Amino acid sequence: MFSESPSTFRSYLNLVEKSGELKRETGEVNAKFEIAAIHMKVQAEKGPALLFENVKGFDMPVLVNMLSTRKRLAMGLGLPADVTFEKLNEELVKRVRKEVEPVVLETGPCKEVVVGEDEVDLTRFPIVTMHEKDAGPYLTGGFVVARDPETGEQNMSFHRFLLKGKNKFGVLLEPRHLWHIYNKADARNEPLKIAIVIGYHPAVGMAAATGLPLGRNEYALAGSLVGSPIQLIRAETSDLLVPADAEIVMEGEILPRVREKEAPYGEYTGYYGVQGMRPVVVVKRITHRRDPIYYSITARSSEVGYYFIAKTVLTQERIKEDVPGVKSANFLHTFFYVISLKKEREGDGRKAMLSAVGANDSIKYCVAVDDDINTRNPEEVLWAIATRCDPSKGTIIIPHTYGQMLDPSGEGEDEARVWSLMLIDATRPLHAPFPERARIPSLEEIEKMKREGKL
Ligand code: MN
Repeated sequence: MFSESPSTFRSYLNLVEKSGELKRETGEVNAKFEIAAIHMKVQAEKGPALLFENVKGFDMPVLVNMLSTRKRLAMGLGLPADVTFEKLNEELVKRVRKEVEPVVLETGPCKEVVVGEDEVDLTRFPIVTMHEKDAGPYLTGGFVVARDPETGEQNMSFHRFLLKGKNKFGVLLEPRHLWHIYNKADARNEPLKIAIVIGYHPAVGMAAATGLPLGRNEYALAGSLVGSPIQLIRAETSDLLVPADAEIVMEGEILPRVREKEAPYGEYTGYYGVQGMRPVVVVKRITHRRDPIYYSITARSSEVGYYFIAKTVLTQERIKEDVPGVKSANFLHTFFYVISLKKEREGDGRKAMLSAVGANDSIKYCVAVDDDINTRNPEEVLWAIATRCDPSKGTIIIPHTYGQMLDPSGEGEDEARVWSLMLIDATRPLHAPFPERARIPSLEEIEKMKREGKL
């Protein structure tokens, strides 16, 4: 039997609202530009999650800014709202190692309303248009569930969907797992069944963003993150498993051997992703709650970083397996990653960087610093690079590797896109002299010196 457990979206949203972290906007807003503009303004002020209850031309509310602060992330993980970065990291290290298996139920609230193939009308949903030159409204807050046609294993991942008609989306498949799975179906000239899930507990979204090794169950990671099993049900038109409490589930197929124009769309990089010939999705069934909430992620929302936090922690743990002296590792900026370590062997910095770029496709610049440098402080990281790295000896460029296809500095189109990696070793030599950090004694030390007659 379904219950509103700590792992459901509605229980999370209630908690957020009770804590004063959700604002209901009752004034009329436009799904075109206005929702995204208000979102970015409120986010810059570190404001609350926003539920737009009066979207012009639609009878469904739109939620944005749900997971944009560490406080609201902490609420989703059952941690104190004022949790420090260090404590959060420590908790996540424990939780990403474990799995809490999901439970499969007969039915749940996401099937309160079932819309058949003939009645499917995607234009009823308040799909948001964000940037001036976007090709149209983009569904961005949904994750995709699909099964590998050869292994039968289920995968979860985020993708952008361009609204193309009453039952049709264009989709960008970056060369990740869903792309790998779709290519198998495409080669057999078979449609790939998918479910697009909108409105889910943050832990489920975080698991979907993680890109676990193929075959590992992302719902089990989600259960571990939230500390409570995820309740699932079977989709209507396939054996795909979706959260029982999802607000909206769109079931359909990615068609084989069909390509149509998709993009431009303003991406997380801050640039428009360029147009290309990309796959098409036909939606054949929609199920939703009686009073569904549509959830949208604006491309440059800080939510994106929070959804990737489990992935970031897994990368950090992978590097530690190879180089135990690693203390912390995180992105300082999109594509820019910093590792701090206590070197035990000369060359440990480079070894750690090689592990990092092997484990995470989103790293283009990778910096290794000593453990006296705070990897989240840009000033300290730049100081280390500027003073501890001689470029002719301390940098390595690895040309022509797979890169994020949305990075405008790369070369080639779509899955043919490549970039270079730069490793910057800003660690001090282990076995050669290097000047000591200069310091001024603290006021406490000066007082002590005075008391002891040394000053
Ligand atoms: Mn995956």
